[in-house]
Amino acid sequence: MIDFKESVKKRFIRYTQFDTMSDDGLVGRTRPTTSGQLVLLKELKKELEELGLETYLGSESVLMGVLKGNTTCQTIGFMAHVDTANDVMGNNVKAQCHIYKGGDIELNNGTVIKVCENKDLLMYLDDEIITSDGTTLLGSDDKAGVAEIMEALVYLKNHPEIKHGDIEVFFTPDEETGSGMDLFPFDKKKSICCYTIDGGREGEIESECFNAASIEVVVHGVSTHLGSGRGKLVNAITVASHLVTALPQAESPEATDGRYGYYCALGFEGNQTEARVQIFIRDFDTDNFFRRIENVEKIARSIEALYHAKIDVNSSVTYRNMAVANSKLPEATRSIMEAGKRLGLELYEEIIRGGTDGARLAESGTPCPNIFTGGHNLHSLEEWVGVPTMSKSVNLIIEIAKWWAEQ
Ligand SMILES: [Zn+2]
Repeated sequence: MIDFKESVKKRFIRYTQFDTMSDDGLVGRTRPTTSGQLVLLKELKKELEELGLETYLGSESVLMGVLKGNTTCQTIGFMAHVDTANDVMGNNVKAQCHIYKGGDIELNNGTVIKVCENKDLLMYLDDEIITSDGTTLLGSDDKAGVAEIMEALVYLKNHPEIKHGDIEVFFTPDEETGSGMDLFPFDKKKSICCYTIDGGREGEIESECFNAASIEVVVHGVSTHLGSGRGKLVNAITVASHLVTALPQAESPEATDGRYGYYCALGFEGNQTEARVQIFIRDFDTDNFFRRIENVEKIARSIEALYHAKIDVNSSVTYRNMAVANSKLPEATRSIMEAGKRLGLELYEEIIRGGTDGARLAESGTPCPNIFTGGHNLHSLEEWVGVPTMSKSVNLIIEIAKWWAEQ
């Protein structure tokens, strides 16, 4: 295996210094939601061009680059997102390198990465890991992915003896806001298969995610003077509250894990006259997914009858389980597994209780499994990334490109 530890570490730390925290409150108003993302996208465009790649960065704010192949085979792609989450402060990151010697890691601000909650730290004894200074997240989600893809491109460019086909890379904005793929340049993509480098723990490969829907329920009440409400008032707040409590509580995010799906009310606003509830539906299984959507409709109808209210239910599918597209091209996952075997990496498949940008690509028919980056405790002050794993991820990207050239 090639040692990329120093180079990928330096590159990653350099990218963490770009302030690219996205803002879900600005979706639909500005793209990308924060201007710092565009600064990093332009920097990456420059770097790709210096490497001799053709690039495209249009109003979609998705950067695309093409590394021309030196042999004829299928085009494949790699993808990562440049924004970081806003669950905790994501800007002004000051990355810290540590040679891990065991025990807890104390950072500024009272932030402690406890080994009892981070058993994976022990994989890195006497090896290097990177954290923030404790006041911000680190941003390995997904700048580790960006750095790993860039390192692989640099290596392939400098080693023309390695045979590979055309390789497309996509750097997207606003993944954390869920809108990253809204304007993806689908017509420019030639890849028959793509890989997001946006996972976590070493060895973890994900080719299955939730089916996701968002349901908006609008309750129309009948308002009257409260003093003469008897038999006439239909309080939309009361009706909507009943609907929320009628959702199966044993099938909520709090009560489920593994392959179990859920219902979750996560928006509620209104008054006597009108109340709105937003409900998320998540399930791996397609039939169960649609059954849940139908179930909300049924609950709404019975509550409607109970209160003589009027209830509108509007559901929309947000993303689909990418397993469907991935199974149509088994090579998508097989290429990763076989490349990993050649490198002596222990890879294993996990399911994502969420979605990725890859799920949106899979919906358009392009399989898009997700590959580990080495990041842990994402979206938190305790985030850390293992440097040896970043190096392995770079190796895996190169090996996947080689695998396709041999097919
Ligand atoms: Zn991510």
